[in-house]
Amino acid sequence: MAAFAGDLKTIPARFGAAIPVDKGRELVVVNTHGTQVMDCWAFSRADVSEFMSMEHTRSKLSKVVPAVGDALVTTRRRPILTVTEDTSPGVHDTLLCACSPEIYEEHGCAPGHRSCEQNLHEALAEIGLSCPCTPPPFNLFMNVAVGPANEVVRDAPKSKPGDYIRLRAEMDAVVVLSACPQDVTVINGPGRTPREVQYAVV
Ligand SMILES: [Zn+2]
Repeated sequence: MAAFAGDLKTIPARFGAAIPVDKGRELVVVNTHGTQVMDCWAFSRADVSEFMSMEHTRSKLSKVVPAVGDALVTTRRRPILTVTEDTSPGVHDTLLCACSPEIYEEHGCAPGHRSCEQNLHEALAEIGLSCPCTPPPFNLFMNVAVGPANEVVRDAPKSKPGDYIRLRAEMDAVVVLSACPQDVTVINGPGRTPREVQYAVV
């Protein structure tokens, strides 16, 4: 049993949570069923207009997918989250936007389909914060590759049930996790079924 097992909290399928993480603490994000993608955002608590940026992170790291030891940086190029452990195969995505009402409309879903964008803004509002935009997320466990013709290839997660990634806060932060409600593509596994996830602050 992992040391954080007693501290785990659950995020229901299709919903999100805003999680304050103090500098030096670690957020453990558990893919309980192995098939679930979690969009992840991080904001500076001192000034939420400074937030984790995939563009700045790719530029800073000169890589597309952060790995253990890498720090993800903000819009001001300051480290905000460092990957300190990852028991999954390390397949995560920094390329694609959060799913949104517009995407589900394009898919032909009925109005009201939940989305990661909605989860972000609902979760921030629950703790009295807001963001005027939807920053590009760090898509945990999301299997997106670039093919030989530079096409984007979406596939099911490679993680196993119980795989987790551990992220250390490098400043006082608010991290938002969204258990992605995508049930049209295989991004949440071949069953196309969103699942609950768990996390702990340690
Ligand atoms: Zn989503």
